[in-house]
Amino acid sequence: MPPRVNLNKCNGCEGLPESKCEEACPGDLMAVDPRTNKAYVRFAGDCWDCMSCTKACPTKAIETRVPYQIGYHKASLKPIMGSNTITWKCVDINGKEETYKYRNRMDK
Ligand code: SF4
Ligand code: SF4
Repeated sequence: MPPRVNLNKCNGCEGLPESKCEEACPGDLMAVDPRTNKAYVRFAGDCWDCMSCTKACPTKAIETRVPYQIGYHKASLKPIMGSNTITWKCVDINGKEETYKYRNRMDK
């Protein structure tokens, strides 16, 4: 399912030549509406849930919805980026939360 942008958290990556979610999307699906300065998915049906935009957003404004066929209502999966780690926060349909932390490939 395409990502959902929290309009209260999105600041349009103000000051950057290109927003982080636009820069990250391999399908060129993300855009920032110049009237509202908020991001949106241009072609939701083309999104393949790679979560690149979710991980790249500096304000944590993008949420990936888990398709109901996989997770049912209330289930969610959220990546939290660290400097050289990624933590996946998983919530199942009963609200049970688990986290998995891995080193990523952005080590410097
Ligand atoms: S990366 Fe986040 S803050 Fe920046 S435009 Fe996209 S959704 Fe908004
Ligand atoms: S999840 Fe991946 S394909 Fe879908 S909008 Fe985000 S970056 Fe693009």
